[in-house]
Amino acid sequence: MRNVSIEALMQLVGEYNLEECERVRKAYEYAKVLHENQFRQSGEPYINHPLNVAYILAEMHADGDTLCASLLHDTLEDTSVTKEDIAHVFNKNVANLVDGVTKISKLNFSSKQAQNLANTRKIITSITEDVRIIIIKLADRLHNMRTLQFKTPFKQRENALETMEIFVPLAYYIGAYRIKSELEDLSFRYLKPDLYHSLDEKKRKLEMENSDTLKEMLFKIQTMLNDRDIPNEIKIRTKNIYGIYKRLSDGHKLADIHDLLALKIIVDEIENCYLTLGLVHSKYYPVNDKFKDYISNPKTNMYRSLHTTVFGPNDRLVQTQIRTFNMDRVASFGLATYWDIKKGNAREVMQKDLKEKYQFFKSLVEINSMFGDNQEFVLQIKKELFADKIYVYTSKGDIVELPKGATPIDFAYKIHTDIGNTMVAAMVNEEYVDVGYPLKNKDRVKIITDDLSFGPREEWLSKVVTTRARKKIREFERR
Ligand code: MN
Repeated sequence: MRNVSIEALMQLVGEYNLEECERVRKAYEYAKVLHENQFRQSGEPYINHPLNVAYILAEMHADGDTLCASLLHDTLEDTSVTKEDIAHVFNKNVANLVDGVTKISKLNFSSKQAQNLANTRKIITSITEDVRIIIIKLADRLHNMRTLQFKTPFKQRENALETMEIFVPLAYYIGAYRIKSELEDLSFRYLKPDLYHSLDEKKRKLEMENSDTLKEMLFKIQTMLNDRDIPNEIKIRTKNIYGIYKRLSDGHKLADIHDLLALKIIVDEIENCYLTLGLVHSKYYPVNDKFKDYISNPKTNMYRSLHTTVFGPNDRLVQTQIRTFNMDRVASFGLATYWDIKKGNAREVMQKDLKEKYQFFKSLVEINSMFGDNQEFVLQIKKELFADKIYVYTSKGDIVELPKGATPIDFAYKIHTDIGNTMVAAMVNEEYVDVGYPLKNKDRVKIITDDLSFGPREEWLSKVVTTRARKKIREFERR
């Protein structure tokens, strides 16, 4: 991985936020003096690390405070500077961000020591205070993973595991797919090197073999769009290696992974997304059950796009993803996109959106309030939020995110406490099921309520997996 220079960072920041350049340079000079005579395991000056972290954030168009904090992120821990010094030289926001990142820096997720559990809890809950702390931490982790070859094999494994267990889910939840997939592949590479390299080779071969097919499709679709004066950009994308591995371990064959090869079609506005969909289907037969409209019905991390898999040239299955330029930024950076579209008060909008739109957030707050013990908290987070998830539909068609093993009782309480408390029966895909029925992906769930019901039964406690349902049932019992 090539190192960036301060000039490269200045140029990048200048492209989207000229007025912050001076302050960012000042943070760099300040950190450089503080880290003087410190070196990374690779032998290079330590300052290269915060500089690269800042660059990753600048690629996401991070605000000035975040960039300064990222340049200073290791100074509190490794140098003589204090939080007050940083507040004085920069401002309080920068100092708070650096402090927030520092508090969670000694994290060691794989160890069960009390101190580590407390730190793990801090990193996860820091998202409730300021999501930018997590975003800086994700960039920090990404650069450390990119330079992991200089660590001992033991450290490599430990960091890779920790990344998979905690940073990948966090990146997913805030919708930062670009970071998520790179972290996955970097970790996978150290966890299962042989498998990684063999899949990498297979993927390259497939890309080569299908390159002409995809280019032909790209050209045809582009011509149709240009003929209709629809501004567009089309890119070829292949699934990341870990994503391919996951599908294979679910029992799919390489040839059957329908989204292994995809065309990303980006247009200017929503109406043109649907128009493009029509054009694609008029030219290539769709695989009917593979169509998804995440524009009308966004994913729980706010990802929006139309997905349709079609028979491309030579009967090759190709997924096309159709979205607007704005949606494409959200698809890459998630919540961090607000840096671009809400300049000035991005931080406030991020926190507000997290609370109101991101389903995981409420669960996290609830788990945090229910579990005083750090070990129980971490276990519950792993089980309920960071493990496999399922997505089911309400009768209105909204997507609800639940942990694997969740039942209609969990579903009911997730929708509303009153619905849980007055539930008398449940239907899945229009058939009555037991309220303890384990829900599956894409189930359509309908809860039958009755105001005269006796309320939740005690035995429901053994049929729920979410903290929310458990908490609400207990609260009702106490009344
Ligand atoms: Mn660091």
